[in-house]
Amino acid sequence: MSNTLDGISEIPQRLLASEALPTLILGGGFTGLFTALHLSRQHYTTPTILIDREWSFIFKPLLYEVLSGEMNMQFICHRYDSLLHKSGITFIRDEVQSIDLQQRQVRLASGLHYTYSNLVLSLGGVVSYCGVKGAKEYTLPFSTIEDAIALGKQLRDCLQRATQSEELHQKKKLLTFAILGAGRTGVELAATLADLLPDWYTSLGGEIADIRVVIIQRGKEILKSDSDRLRQTAEDALQKRSVSVEVMLETAVIQVRSNIIVIKRNDRIEEINAATIIWTTGIVTNPLIDTLSIPEGGRDQQGRLKLTDTLELLDFPEVFAGGDCAVTEHPLPLTAQVAYQQGSTIAHNLQALSEGHSPIDAEIKMRGTLMKLGLKEGVAELSNHYEMKGHLGHLIRQATYIELLPTPARNFKGTIEWISDELFQKYAGV
Ligand SMILES: Cc1cc2nc3c(=O)[nH]c(=O)nc-3n(C[C@H](O)[C@H](O)[C@H](O)COP(=O)(O)OP(=O)(O)OC[C@H]3O[C@@H](n4cnc5c(N)ncnc54)[C@H](O)[C@@H]3O)c2cc1C
Repeated sequence: MSNTLDGISEIPQRLLASEALPTLILGGGFTGLFTALHLSRQHYTTPTILIDREWSFIFKPLLYEVLSGEMNMQFICHRYDSLLHKSGITFIRDEVQSIDLQQRQVRLASGLHYTYSNLVLSLGGVVSYCGVKGAKEYTLPFSTIEDAIALGKQLRDCLQRATQSEELHQKKKLLTFAILGAGRTGVELAATLADLLPDWYTSLGGEIADIRVVIIQRGKEILKSDSDRLRQTAEDALQKRSVSVEVMLETAVIQVRSNIIVIKRNDRIEEINAATIIWTTGIVTNPLIDTLSIPEGGRDQQGRLKLTDTLELLDFPEVFAGGDCAVTEHPLPLTAQVAYQQGSTIAHNLQALSEGHSPIDAEIKMRGTLMKLGLKEGVAELSNHYEMKGHLGHLIRQATYIELLPTPARNFKGTIEWISDELFQKYAGV
């Protein structure tokens, strides 16, 4: 608690000293945190406050490793107060409750409120259950550290109970693990579980062959936004795990009940009994974004905020946005690699405006795709041209992420690259 109080007491002094209205950064994920780190590196002089409802930044691409125990939690969770120590940026742990773009005011759950000079909207997205009845109540999400811990507990619990279950139907249900959605998160999770669960179950004396890992996808293919080659690599990998993953395509989930998934495929309604049902599909914008009073046409069909090429909000040039809650004229995938590069541009443009210069257009480089495809296996597709898979893919993915993990502002390198130049030269010849 003392950190919150420290954070809050720091603000009035800063504001009094400069008499300047602050720049507020709402949300400390990939966009917000990297905006703050870059601002600090640039010695931005406007008082700046980063607000997040959590104490720590979570490096989500490595959540699977926390679930599997390949990495411990401390490795991917970094407290904002230590990341921003001596950065000149104030961190406040609080929930943003309302944003008034017209009055330039932000209110927090604690009752604090601020009038800003510039605003950065980086609140990310939230899980959407796409109107599927029972999905929210009876499926497990996988997007926060708490989700990873809860899922790990659920998996171990099911395996342990299965070892003592005499009743066949009950045992089968306990050993069926269903993943709903075959986008990147669903595929990475399915591949991880198909290696992890047999490993854990054999250590309890169970039979690997009893485990069933199912991934259910409404569309005709997995990884629909990715290249054919990446899709093929992932399909092969799903089959080659310790237990092969059952991929159910063109299958609509129409309802979820306790331990039951109701599906429709080939015009037939079926039920799958599974004690563990994980929801990995559907991201919609943060509900706070929906409440913003912006002119008609300021959002896309998914409710994301439309931005200029300089990442400013249409009609509100003092407001920047990036990451999963925003969209540019040429929509980009909702990924960390887009979000942190946008953070860098936002910081650059805030600095430019404060010095009376014009903001620049964001140039986002899509450097490649990294995926976990099982324990110690992965794929690295660089610039969509070169693919490294298997253990080499795993090593490249891990090395890249370790390099990308944010370090405290005072050590921040600032020239973060998705894949280091060295790797590109070595494997891609560019
Ligand atoms: C399991 C998983 C694996 C992923 N793997 C990859 C990957 O391998 N590669 C990749 O590029 N991308 C990956 N992603 C996607 C990537 O994490 C997101 O695209 C990225 O985090 C978006 O950044 P953002 O800044 O828009 O939002 P976020 O990083 O989600 O940050 C939003 C922040 O806002 C805060 N917040 C929200 N509402 C409030 C409020 N009302 N008050 C205060 N604070 C609030 C949240 O606490 C959060 O810190 C993965 C995502 C998940 C869930």
